[in-house]
Amino acid sequence: ENTRTYLIGGNWKSNGTIASLEKLIGEFNGAGPIPANAEVVVGVPAIHIPICLMQLRDDIEIAAQDCSLTGCGAYTGEIAASQLKDMGVTWVILGHSERREGFGMAGEDNELVAKKTKKALEEGLKVMLCIGEKKEEREAGTTMDICAAQLKAVADVLSAEDWANVSNEPVWAIGTGLTATPEMAQETHSQIRQWMSDNVSADVASAVRIQYGGSMKGANAEGLLSQADIDGGLIGGASLTLDFFKCIESVP
Ligand code: PEP
Repeated sequence: ENTRTYLIGGNWKSNGTIASLEKLIGEFNGAGPIPANAEVVVGVPAIHIPICLMQLRDDIEIAAQDCSLTGCGAYTGEIAASQLKDMGVTWVILGHSERREGFGMAGEDNELVAKKTKKALEEGLKVMLCIGEKKEEREAGTTMDICAAQLKAVADVLSAEDWANVSNEPVWAIGTGLTATPEMAQETHSQIRQWMSDNVSADVASAVRIQYGGSMKGANAEGLLSQADIDGGLIGGASLTLDFFKCIESVP
């Protein structure tokens, strides 16, 4: 257990129909309480945001899964951070590896993710900033170089007081069923916190919440969340079922 409030995020990605959404909302609304030392947020498809705002229990906040770099205007297809905020959305997931990769479109580079992070924070959204290495980068021993480059791009545009959350999501562990062991995740998290201390400030390093993401589920959440530098989870597949609440219940 640590003194930071745990942050348990869900990422529903591009999943769901009205019927499946209403079923899941019903299950979440009927599930148990959220521990006092945890904050729970779900990242929902943009089109489902209004339904979630109206129907999902009030102690689960809503995140968008991306936002635009711009304000409102002639940007067809984009959703501005200010529009999310106006709607009642309080969070946004930025820099998810799937958006960085681009799935066949131009992906988002470190600088774009950094600019979006700054814009979202300026508009009053809280940000789950995703970073993480690919399989070949871990195998080459460059995990922390990759994480540091992703963090540095953001540090270059943010003030120290803007840092609140980092989501460490090893790409090889996302959606693969391969989870970092608690020890592997802890090692990277402590290196990320050290990087924050060296490059932002000691105060920010001790306050920043570092979530782990990558095939986290009820069955492995307790081991991960009990590590000293793991302050929560960002949960994809398992957040589409009541298993998400097993993760929440695993908060130390
Ligand atoms: C994610 O999408 O952020 C994620 C961690 O997915 P999964 O839990 O399915 O690996």
